[in-house]
Amino acid sequence: MILCGLHGSKLSGLSPRRYYDEILNTLQEHHKEFSTFIPLIASENIPSPAVREALSSDFGNRYAEGWVGERVYAGCEYIDKVEFTCIDLMKKLYKCEFVDPRPISGVVANLVVYTAFTEPGDTIMALPITCGGHITYGPKKLNGTAGAVTGLNVEYLPLDYKELNIDIDRTLKRIKKMDAEGIKPTMVIFGGSVFPFPHPVKELAEEYHSRGAIIHYDSAHVSGLIAGGQFQNPITEGADTVTVSTHKTFFGPQHGSVLSWDKYAEPIKKATLPGLVSNHHLHAVAGLAIACAEMLEFGEAYSKQVIKNAQALGQALNERGFKVLAEHKGFTRSHVLLIDITNYGLGGDVEKKLEKAGIIINRNLLPWDVKEKRNYINPGGIRLGTPEVTRLGMKESDMVEIAELMERVVVKKEDPVKVRKDATAFKSKFQTVHYCFENKTKAYEYVKIR
Ligand SMILES: *Cc1c(COP(=O)(O)O)cnc(C)c1O
Repeated sequence: MILCGLHGSKLSGLSPRRYYDEILNTLQEHHKEFSTFIPLIASENIPSPAVREALSSDFGNRYAEGWVGERVYAGCEYIDKVEFTCIDLMKKLYKCEFVDPRPISGVVANLVVYTAFTEPGDTIMALPITCGGHITYGPKKLNGTAGAVTGLNVEYLPLDYKELNIDIDRTLKRIKKMDAEGIKPTMVIFGGSVFPFPHPVKELAEEYHSRGAIIHYDSAHVSGLIAGGQFQNPITEGADTVTVSTHKTFFGPQHGSVLSWDKYAEPIKKATLPGLVSNHHLHAVAGLAIACAEMLEFGEAYSKQVIKNAQALGQALNERGFKVLAEHKGFTRSHVLLIDITNYGLGGDVEKKLEKAGIIINRNLLPWDVKEKRNYINPGGIRLGTPEVTRLGMKESDMVEIAELMERVVVKKEDPVKVRKDATAFKSKFQTVHYCFENKTKAYEYVKIR
């Protein structure tokens, strides 16, 4: 149950102490409720107790401006030690020469790359939001970061709707057309927020490099799968820069990073500071370092299981009447599934119904939604991901149980409140974090230190 004390203005005029208590109570209610949910948001995960411990440490109260070992503040001896370790571990995981672990999120990491390698008025190429591209690649007219913040023009990469991947032939045609118009792409961005299959980095690298473009790979969604060795490694396939979100398939704290080559280190470092970061959330850097150690030890087994679970969930849903896209390719090669839900309603409505049953997913645009006059409020699709359920120890047979619960709500139109009881009972078996060294504290346990 959600306490409503903080919603609207109904409880305005409380004493400070009442507000204080309300806020802390609401946090606890969230933990309690979330422990009963089946979490299928593709961009979310659950960190280990050790990462949570780091997040509440004193590192979160400090500043360490500057590059590691060259700070402009005193008192950074231990912070430097942890940040050096973080950089070393990330280099090991991603097999890259250079890591800047300071960007405080994936968005900021993308901004660091834009700032380092583009000028306002340049043209970049990326997937549109309707085809899985991220808001950071968007043009100004959509208030996307690339256009609205960095002044970039955006040419879209064409998506093959059936393959759910970048269409190589049409991309080549578009590049040639740009050649004819005298438009040189400064950067191409591979990656996206619906990222079921590896992108053609190797296939297109030469075309872009020969035109002087930077090849950027936004690994946000698949950062953990790459670290576990189970998805394309963009660094070895020709990428110049890679951005990381550390909390999606990578099971660390919310943070970002940029990976690159030594020859690009200086512009990246300068873009981060003084460009885009002052305080770089040192508690998150510590948490990231811990998650890197966990990833080195458990990453392969974890990411293999994430993918197996996604494929099993796709299969089980498909057998129960859900139209999971890319069936001919086994639905996915990553953690994410895209489902055309229009046989049963619209994405927004289905999202709400499933939430009532304790199954947390998000509505999502299908590539052809705009043409069919649907929008992001009530699109034709839903998106599911298996990172968090995998971290909780679920396997393929558990995916079948989740598919059955979803079938009861969406296909058989059972009362979600009734299904919720069974969803909660199912979830009660998965309350500890797996693929970590220590898990004495439960996954969703609220830790009081007052
Ligand atoms: C989530 C996401 C980001 C942004 O990451 P944050 O850490 O949330 O700022 C960037 N790119 C893609 C493709 C994403 O899915």
